[in-house]
Amino acid sequence: MRVLAFLDGTFADPDQAHIRVDDLGLVRGDGIFETILVTNGVPRELDAHLDRFARSAAKMDMAPPDREAWERVIRLVIDNWPTDVELALKIVLTRGIDGDPDERPTAFAYGTEIAESTKTARRDGIGVVTLNRGFEADLMERAPWLLLGAKTLSYSVNMAAQREARRRGAEDVIFTSTEGYVLEGPTSNVVVARGGTLYTPPPTNGILPGTTQGDVFRAAERAGWKTEVTQLKADELAAGDALMLASSVRKLTRVHTLDDVRLADDPAVAIHAELAKAYDAQYE
Ligand code: PLP
Repeated sequence: MRVLAFLDGTFADPDQAHIRVDDLGLVRGDGIFETILVTNGVPRELDAHLDRFARSAAKMDMAPPDREAWERVIRLVIDNWPTDVELALKIVLTRGIDGDPDERPTAFAYGTEIAESTKTARRDGIGVVTLNRGFEADLMERAPWLLLGAKTLSYSVNMAAQREARRRGAEDVIFTSTEGYVLEGPTSNVVVARGGTLYTPPPTNGILPGTTQGDVFRAAERAGWKTEVTQLKADELAAGDALMLASSVRKLTRVHTLDDVRLADDPAVAIHAELAKAYDAQYE
C-alpha cells in the first residue's frame, strides 16, 4: 500500500511517473527530505521534523518550506491511510526543474508501509561495522558548503556505506571521524547506554540532530535515566551496557554485533526493551 500527494493536496497514482527527467532532485540529488513515522494516526516528532526540514532548506539556500502546506498534506496522507497500519511518510522538496525561470520546487509526500526487514531489525537487533566517514569532527563550521547536518537527497555515500556493511556480513554502519570520534549511522543516530546514562554524539560533529534520539532521551529521562550529548570515541561503543541506533522508521534498534564481535546480551537486551517500551508508550 502506498499513498502519494503533492504539496497542493492533489493525490497521484504512485505507480505512474510524475517527476521530470530534468528535475534537479533526480539528476543532482539537489533537494531535501524527511521521513516521519506515523503510528495510530499520530506523526511522531512532527515539529522536530519540520524544524529540521526548514533548517536543511536554509543550509541549501532554498526558500523556506511553507509549513502550513506541509502540515496539511501530511494530514491528508495520514487521513488516507488505515490507522492501525504503521506508516513511513516521506516528504520531499527538490529545487525543481533545471533552468525553470520561475524556480518552482517539486514537493510531495509519499507514504509506504514498514519493510519486513525493518520490523525484524527492531525485534532482533543488527550487526554493525564502523567505517571512516573521511572528515574531522569539527569540519561542519569550517566548511558549511559541505552541507553537513542537512538532510539532503544526496544519499549515495550513505547507501554505499550500507552496501559495504553487507559485504562485511553486517546490516548497518556507524561512521567515525578521521580522529576516531563517533558520528552517526548512514540513516540513524548512535545511542550508548552506560551506568544509567544514555550518551549520543553532538550535532556539531556534522551529523543530523535526530528526532528519534531526542524523543527517546526525553522518554528515558522520565523513566529515571540520565542523558548526555557528548563526544564518544569509537572504542567506547563496545564498552557500554548497550549500543543502539535510533531513527524514525527503525525506532530504537539494538546493535548485537560490532565489527564482527558479538556484544553481551546482558544487560543490553533488557535495556533496549525498557527504552523501546518507554519510547513507544507515549504513542499508545
Ligand atoms: N542521521 C542520518 C544521516 C539520517 O539519515 C537519519 C534519518 O534518516 C538520522 C540520523 C536519524 O534521524 P531521525 O531520528 O530524525 O529519523
